[in-house]
Amino acid sequence: MQPAPYGYTATGRIRQKSLKNSIPSESSVAGENQYSKFRNTRTKFLNCPACNKDFSHRPDSYRAVWQHLLHFATVAKEPKHQEARETLKDIRDRKLSEELKKAREKWSAAKWRARNPEKSQRASVKSATKLKIERYLRWLGSGEFSEELLNKILEEKMAKWDAMD
Ligand SMILES: [Zn+2]
Repeated sequence: MQPAPYGYTATGRIRQKSLKNSIPSESSVAGENQYSKFRNTRTKFLNCPACNKDFSHRPDSYRAVWQHLLHFATVAKEPKHQEARETLKDIRDRKLSEELKKAREKWSAAKWRARNPEKSQRASVKSATKLKIERYLRWLGSGEFSEELLNKILEEKMAKWDAMD
C-alpha cells in the first residue's frame, strides 16, 4: 500500500495538503487522528507510522514497530518518531485502561451474581418481565402505556413470582 503523503483526515481519507500551515493546537489533534487507525487491531500495525518502514514480513510486526519506534525515539532522538511513539502510547494506554475498567466491572458483576444467586435471578426475571409488559402495553396502543401502569403490573407479577418459592 502506498503511504499517504500527508497522512489521513479525521474521517480516514488521504490528506491532500500538508498540515504545516495549520495552527499548533490543531496539529496535535490531527496527529492523533493520523494514528487512531491503530487503536483497534494489532494486525494493522505493519508499517512504522512515522517513516512508513515496512515490518509486515516480521513474525510479530506489532512488536517490531514498537521496538523500531523506541530506538528512533530514544536512541536516535528523531522528532517524528518521538511524536509518533508518544501519540501511540497515549492511545494504547487509554485503550488499556478502558479495557481494564470493563474487565473489573464484569468481574465484580460476576462476583455479585455468584454471591447473590437468588437476587441475581430475581433481577433478571424482573427486567425480562418489565420488557414483556412494556411491549404488551405499547402493543395495546400508545394511550395504554404509562410508566406508572408498567410498574404497577410489574410489582404484581413479581409478587406472584416471589410467592412461587
Ligand atoms: Zn520509522
